[in-house]
Amino acid sequence: MDKILIATTNKGKLREFRQIFAQTGIQILSLDDMPERVDVEEDGKTFMENAVKKAEGYGKFYKIPVIAEDSGLEVEALDGYPGVYSARFYEIDFGEKEPVKKDKDTANINKLLRLLANVKKREARFVSVAVFYNPYEEGLIAEGECRGKIALQPRGEKGFGYDPIFVPEGYTKTMAELEPEEKNRISHRGKAVKKLISMLSKVYSLPI
Ligand code: IMP
Repeated sequence: MDKILIATTNKGKLREFRQIFAQTGIQILSLDDMPERVDVEEDGKTFMENAVKKAEGYGKFYKIPVIAEDSGLEVEALDGYPGVYSARFYEIDFGEKEPVKKDKDTANINKLLRLLANVKKREARFVSVAVFYNPYEEGLIAEGECRGKIALQPRGEKGFGYDPIFVPEGYTKTMAELEPEEKNRISHRGKAVKKLISMLSKVYSLPI
């Protein structure tokens, strides 16, 4: 196996996948590299459902090995929201919709901070479910989580999504203030994908 399609167009996620896979010798492709476009709807109620659906959908269509990862932020005081709605929290009917003035990530952050104004309980966790699908072999699934708290203000320019307002447990910096290697070491995605690579290395010969 020399190529894996990462079923995403999210540039932040893709950058992290490329960093995590750097030592494996496997070439990482994204949906933007594929000649034909196909859309797999993310309408599942759990990260697992969405990840399995994307991995199978793209794997069967393109007939190459695929990793699909579904991830998001669960905030305790909001009963686990935004959860599977993390990417488009700004537009869902939870409190008020948030206008997109700059970009979607900023709108999501503004909405979350507005909902948590005056809320002391700020515990949250990032969750990642990564699914490997190979049309000719069995599939593999791995999960990762990263616990932390929601900051009062956004800080930092690195990372993507909710990183500027997420302070991982044991840190004072936000995820967006950490170097990429440090984020990958402790993040939900880093943990899930490294577990997956370790499982893959038992099935395929990878130089790791
Ligand atoms: P997905 O493409 O449906 O998995 O969307 C995941 C969404 O969850 C992203 O668009 C972000 O809003 C959020 N998210 C997932 N992982 C991270 C992360 O590592 N940092 C910040 N936000 C994340």
